[in-house]
Amino acid sequence: MAKEDVFKNLIAHCKEYGFIFQSSEIYDGLSAVYDYGQNGTELKNNIKTYWWDSMILLNENIVGLDSAIFMHPKTWKASGHIDTFNDPLIDNKDSKKRYRADDLIEEYIEKIEAKINKEIDKAKKKFGDTFDEKMYRETNPRVMVNQEKINILNERFVKAMKENDLEDLRQIILDYEIACPVSGTRNWTDVRQFNLMFATEMGSTANGAMKIYLRPETAQGIFVNYINVQKTGRMKLPFGIAQIGKAFRNEIVARQFIFRMREFEQMEMQYFIKPGTEKEWFEHWKNVRMKWHKALGFGDESYRFYDHEKLAHYASVATDIEFNFPFGFREVEGIHSRTDFDLGQHQKLSGKKLQYFDPETNKSFVPYVVETSLGLDRTFLLIISAAYHEEEIKKEDGSLDTRVVLKLPPVLAPVKLAILPLVKKDGLPEISRRIMNDLKYDFNCQYEEKDSIGRRYRRQDAIGTPYCITVDHQTTQDNTVTIRYRDSMQQERVKINKLRSIISEKVDMSSFLRKLDKD
Ligand code: ATP
Repeated sequence: MAKEDVFKNLIAHCKEYGFIFQSSEIYDGLSAVYDYGQNGTELKNNIKTYWWDSMILLNENIVGLDSAIFMHPKTWKASGHIDTFNDPLIDNKDSKKRYRADDLIEEYIEKIEAKINKEIDKAKKKFGDTFDEKMYRETNPRVMVNQEKINILNERFVKAMKENDLEDLRQIILDYEIACPVSGTRNWTDVRQFNLMFATEMGSTANGAMKIYLRPETAQGIFVNYINVQKTGRMKLPFGIAQIGKAFRNEIVARQFIFRMREFEQMEMQYFIKPGTEKEWFEHWKNVRMKWHKALGFGDESYRFYDHEKLAHYASVATDIEFNFPFGFREVEGIHSRTDFDLGQHQKLSGKKLQYFDPETNKSFVPYVVETSLGLDRTFLLIISAAYHEEEIKKEDGSLDTRVVLKLPPVLAPVKLAILPLVKKDGLPEISRRIMNDLKYDFNCQYEEKDSIGRRYRRQDAIGTPYCITVDHQTTQDNTVTIRYRDSMQQERVKINKLRSIISEKVDMSSFLRKLDKD
């Protein structure tokens, strides 16, 4: 099945099994805003725990924070968001569709890259093991022409973005004959800047309400609390502050399900360091964060770094961790070296000293910052799309059937085990309830007695439950049950009193975290 079709099925699956619903669906929905259902909430909470514990438990110099969404409006002047947190937008006059001008150009570049990759794949197949990709890229005329085209366009594009040259952005779209994907025409408006922050008012208008913003990133809550945390926690450089919270962006084009939302959650960590050590810490956090992703077990080849050429207004160096989503490699996390930009700006606009006194040198300075900024919803999408499998399996009568299974890492699964009496009589429900009452303190368990055992297994597969415990007549004689493993569908007979240790070995967060500390 084509990747796009599988992605459509995944979106339908997320709704059908209580992971994600469109916001305000009964009113036909609110665009790019989503609600997490009963299973989605559990999965999301487990992702948060994985991130939070990896920051707070594994690093004795990282502490947490929970700052408010509303902040003094000067915050956003200082951070540069009021003046520069813009996207260049352009409309097609025929389709009346709105696009980000930079997206249109990036997609055009991606198309040329796809041509190059197709050429390389063909050659790989033809030459087999002897294929030398580097040499092929440097000598094949068609690849070289396309690569040169990308280089020239990229240079002009990066310059236009850096210099905020909206006219040239439009001219690039015209020069490269980029057409609207809907109308197919090149009848474009001018490019305009559009600020992504949502504004609202605080206080009653009669008393002169203040215009405030919904935060577009959680980081600024950390910067303005730098001194509070440093002083009250007696923190020494280097140290970090981690936060999980909502952020809001009025995205022009919201697409690809929960990949780009208008209300989303971020998991950010700002690491305060001595100036001059930023290169070393940038490399450190790049590696730590990549390891965190890869530990989920979805295949190392699904991740890559993408170094930024066009930097955000605050960054000196930046890289993205990209994941191969069903729609291609896209950013899931940003790692940015922010220098003393933010603290310096807040110091200037607030008039308050945001410095660190170094007892070793007896000098005060504004610390530098390296941050790791991960989208919680994007991580959710990454995990659920990598876990989603439509498998063909053989039924007992030999006919083929499709099984939909979420192969989630057990530690993240919303429900860890389902307890299923084979039949609703002969004392089996009572034994099942006793097992559930014993294990419910340790794991999120589900009890199910309706429908055939096969259908119940399928329902659990569909929400990613790693273990199904079946209580049958033999249980009444020897206190054993069968445990069925989600991925292999194998079953094993085990003693009831062994269940806790078998399950906790696989779903325990602390054993999972231990993997991160191993080299
Ligand atoms: P993009 O280029 O995709 O717009 P960004 O570079 O603006 O993202 P950052 O400001 O670096 O993103 O934010 C850090 C992380 O927050 C991103 O890596 C992403 O995971 C997440 N994020 C940003 N915008 C959104 C959004 N609109 N919806 C969901 N997650 C988002």
